[in-house]
Amino acid sequence: MKAIYDLTPFTMLDYPDHTACIIWFAGCNFRCPYCHNPEMITGKGTMDINEAISFLKTRTGKLDAVVLSGGEATSYPELASFAKQVKNMGFKVKLDTNGSRPEVLNFMMQENLLDYIALDYKAPPNKFKKICGFKRPALFEESLDIICKTTQIPVEIRTTVHTDLLDENDIKTMINKLDSLNYKNTYYIQNYRETETLDSELKEQIKTLDITKIPKPDNFNILFRNF
Ligand code: SF4
Repeated sequence: MKAIYDLTPFTMLDYPDHTACIIWFAGCNFRCPYCHNPEMITGKGTMDINEAISFLKTRTGKLDAVVLSGGEATSYPELASFAKQVKNMGFKVKLDTNGSRPEVLNFMMQENLLDYIALDYKAPPNKFKKICGFKRPALFEESLDIICKTTQIPVEIRTTVHTDLLDENDIKTMINKLDSLNYKNTYYIQNYRETETLDSELKEQIKTLDITKIPKPDNFNILFRNF
């Protein structure tokens, strides 16, 4: 089974303060209209796990970490055992996830298979299904709860904003939710960048989010990207 869509051999941007490669898993159970990787979420993989392992063997001692991304990496049923192999080779593991599989997240955390987690926070509950096309937002809420409460490993939460989809009040609702869950790390709010998207109806934003209207929470930082 070719579970991997692509592999980026080197990055210094995806895992804070670490050199890494990125493994892009094919397939995703969300359909965000601003998805930058439409072929990756609907297309088939081009590489199997053994090929990825062979590549990683050439990078031991040269890279600090492996980023498991996609698509949605947790869609790959053998992700935990793959992460274990990666850890046994001496790499740290970062997971990028949409939070749709809290049981995978929980299991991998309990097994000490993750060193860093980046969770996408797509929308408040009233817009969640509409924006990402995922019909079980309660699963995301479970992941959000896990990530906000962990003190075990570094985490980040991030939201991409296109103002046809989210406005200042939505972001305030999401900040309040993070506050209520006692989130203590950084919340990244990322301005949408026009690129090839899944939904060709999504046009360039007429206005960007007014970041002066975004409240500053007491217990965590907000960093704005691309504004
Ligand atoms: S979660 Fe959304 S943005 Fe991320 S890969 Fe899936 S469809 Fe694309």
